[in-house]
Amino acid sequence: MWSKANLVGGHLALDFLNTVGDTGKTRDTNHLASPRDFVSWIDFCGLRAAISMDPAPTQEVITDLVRFRETAYRAVVSIFDETAHQSRDSRRYENYLKRAVQRATFDTRAKPLAWRATKEPDHHILDSFVLLLDDLLRSADVVRIRQCERCSWLFLNSGRGHGRRWCNMATCGNRHKVEAHRERSRTTES
Ligand SMILES: [Zn+2]
Repeated sequence: MWSKANLVGGHLALDFLNTVGDTGKTRDTNHLASPRDFVSWIDFCGLRAAISMDPAPTQEVITDLVRFRETAYRAVVSIFDETAHQSRDSRRYENYLKRAVQRATFDTRAKPLAWRATKEPDHHILDSFVLLLDDLLRSADVVRIRQCERCSWLFLNSGRGHGRRWCNMATCGNRHKVEAHRERSRTTES
């Protein structure tokens, strides 16, 4: 089910937000529908050492996580259009973060120092992703976050200037080329 194409975000927090399968801007095809999907994704990303799967996540835990993913996605998008200060989702994201930090432990042995998500099974997975995204959003890389022009996926732009336009050249980039070509032939015909 997973392939390298699922890791185009350049940061695992973005790859997490990209666990939807839609080819357009809708986010109806959820790739993390069940605990099984989730565990297979964790294994694919090599996150099992960082995020505990013991006890195995329940459906409720995964449903909560997906709810956070969608709130966080909309909050991140509201940062781009500079409406974050008035966005309900960025306030919700802030509440997720406050609760996660409240439950976390502060690891002073890590360099840089870091929050470690609670081990409490009901919140461990959710809080791990909340804190992972927080790491990215409070880093200098935040200015490099871009959204694919065709789908809802996010990625870190590594080029200069506007740079990369699509999450993946082989999928969205190609679809764009095919459509642009069709558009051109239509104009020449008429
Ligand atoms: Zn795309």
